[in-house]
Amino acid sequence: MLIVMDKTASEAEIAAVVAKIEALGYTAQTIPGGERMAIGILRNPGPVDPALFIDLPGVIEAIPVSRSYKLVSREMKRENSIIVLPQGVKIGGGHFVVMAGPCAVESELQAFTIARAVKAAGAQVFRGGAFKPRTSPYSYQGLEEEGLKILARVRDEIGLPVITEAIDHYSLDLVEQYADIIQIGARNMQNFSLLRRAGQARKPVLLKRGMSATLDEFFMAAEYILAEGNTQVILCERGIRGIGAHARNTLDLAAIPYVKKESHLPIIADPSHAAGRRLLVPPLARGAVAVGADGLIIEVHHDPIHALSDGPQSLYPEQFAALMRDIQTLRPGQWL
Ligand code: PEP
Ligand code: MN
Repeated sequence: MLIVMDKTASEAEIAAVVAKIEALGYTAQTIPGGERMAIGILRNPGPVDPALFIDLPGVIEAIPVSRSYKLVSREMKRENSIIVLPQGVKIGGGHFVVMAGPCAVESELQAFTIARAVKAAGAQVFRGGAFKPRTSPYSYQGLEEEGLKILARVRDEIGLPVITEAIDHYSLDLVEQYADIIQIGARNMQNFSLLRRAGQARKPVLLKRGMSATLDEFFMAAEYILAEGNTQVILCERGIRGIGAHARNTLDLAAIPYVKKESHLPIIADPSHAAGRRLLVPPLARGAVAVGADGLIIEVHHDPIHALSDGPQSLYPEQFAALMRDIQTLRPGQWL
């Protein structure tokens, strides 16, 4: 149930609605809108009777919410959410963002070389894994805290906000200290205790869709984060398991307009992990822009042959720069 307050509702009237919800044993979540306040009712096991609220002072509507994901849905919040990073970069609601960098931070020199190149091409956020969730325990696992320190130096010296993945509670505590956006990877989309921990963080979270997750499961995973109080969530379509060997995964382009219809949260695309091969990355990226993605996250490496992870899908800096020019054609005036 969503209780919509009148534009002129006072603080006391809002507090009275919250108190009534809590007296019924449910949770109230205030959802400030452009013009008026709304209050969501959460953790109600069955339907709530609108008559309990409709006559309270300051209430104009009590709307039943049919979706099981509530805070994520447009039923609860109609306007697009816009995530604002401390450096002023905005994501969502018409603000398009490109995040780029290597799969993994390998050294200070590697990170700075790639960060300079992607910044020169117009990327607004630098990506790089310090904790890597690898399919094989023998694959490169990342520089861990040393990698986070390198990312923080990239931010301070090159001036790009940084995103990096947390794979468990230990790494999330560290990532929260060093990074500007906390990434939760596809393999952890249903790690519910990690999602709760991300919901308690006070930094934006990029949640990737699990490689076999339905969109309902994806929304419910995001709901875990919002239900803990962190509304700064960016969704990411990174490809789901397909049937062919031509690509590592299948980029589900239909997910992007569907997510935008159902949810106010921004959704970006990761064509790199979807493709698995650099040849396929630029066309998939252009496709994602064309279907309305709010941004892209792309792997770029200056020496992909020697990359310690995901070299085959990493663009050379000049390929990335060419893709950025294509995006400006698709979204004229983007970076003016
Ligand atoms: C990554 O971004 O490097 C990564 C591991 O992505 P995903 O979780 O989508 O596989
Ligand atoms: Mn990768």
